[in-house]
Amino acid sequence: MPRKCEGCNKNAALKRPKTGHALCKDCFFWAFEQEIHQTITDGHLFLPGDSVAIGASGGKDSTVLAYTLKLLNERHNYGLKLFLLSVDEGITGYRDDSLETVKRNQHQYQLPLTIVSYEDLYGWSMDAIVKQVGLKNNCTFCGVFRRQALDRGAAQLGATKIVTGHNADDIAETVIMNVLRGDIARLRRCVAITTGTDGYLPRCKPFKYTYEKEIVMYAYFKKLDYFSTECIYSPNAYRGFARTYIKDLEKIRPRAIIDIIHSGESLSVRKDVRMPTQILCTRCKYISSNDICKACLMLEGLNKGRPRLGIGKIHKERRKFEEELAEQTAQSQDQAVHCQQRHVTETCDDHVTSTNNGRRRCGDCHNSLDCHSNKTT
Ligand code: SF4
Ligand code: ZN
Repeated sequence: MPRKCEGCNKNAALKRPKTGHALCKDCFFWAFEQEIHQTITDGHLFLPGDSVAIGASGGKDSTVLAYTLKLLNERHNYGLKLFLLSVDEGITGYRDDSLETVKRNQHQYQLPLTIVSYEDLYGWSMDAIVKQVGLKNNCTFCGVFRRQALDRGAAQLGATKIVTGHNADDIAETVIMNVLRGDIARLRRCVAITTGTDGYLPRCKPFKYTYEKEIVMYAYFKKLDYFSTECIYSPNAYRGFARTYIKDLEKIRPRAIIDIIHSGESLSVRKDVRMPTQILCTRCKYISSNDICKACLMLEGLNKGRPRLGIGKIHKERRKFEEELAEQTAQSQDQAVHCQQRHVTETCDDHVTSTNNGRRRCGDCHNSLDCHSNKTT
């Protein structure tokens, strides 16, 4: 005798991976969507009138995210303006194909699409980067560049929020990786449902508690159009180990994924542990915990044929580069004249106002520039 749906008593079509409940398709869709709605409202992810850029790769997570967000926005009157934002990393045979899926989604869901590319933003495609750095650290470059590309694309579009399709499995893997690395700053960030509130743009994860298996099931039963090929440059062995470890745990304890996320949330940091402070990159003005952001450092390395520059925390190449840069900055500051308010004035007389007695004054605040102490060294 077929099992009955625990929601409506019709014939069940599946067993929910998250709860083990037997459900018919319609009850599964409703439960899946309601849980995401609950996550959105409990986490206060949006405000009415928000312009939300959906990070869309054409893969199952972002496709289901675009579909459900549009549906929930209409069903619950969130009042959001939604659009799709894709990043073209320049990976021939992978991203060009997946972007075709996003272009179809644009019409299927009636959501406007914008594509930003590494080539336009950085002058480098991933194909070219892999040619230079090989297949060992390529994902480090790709991850740093993608993060910034999404932020820049969303800012260009006037978005007030970015949403990504990171699911519960992804977050649990990241928790394990950060615990193993002892990276407390990242551990804290990876379990937060919204990050970036003190930086460029808030970034939210409506699928924080949604299981990957259920996303696949939902996409399958809804017959959504998504792209499922792996990236051709995907070595990411470390994440692969974390994934296998969690899958093994799940066999013994199906709640393992949610338990790991909750453990990450409950770990508290001692007050005297120094956390990185966010400043602006002196080169590109993107948020950074160093004077030069990671993307600028990596670009400098690629452009100078020294790709190891941006990899690792205190690699000797990086230290050398920072010394060179400090020297260059000191030289250029030596030539500039500053007033007491630290306005930099041009050294040419056109940009300096003079008083009757001929003393040189700052064109911004009119303080004297003649005193030796105003000269920045
Ligand atoms: Fe980029 Fe690596 Fe992901 Fe490929 S697998 S898209 S190279 S981060
Ligand atoms: Zn920068």
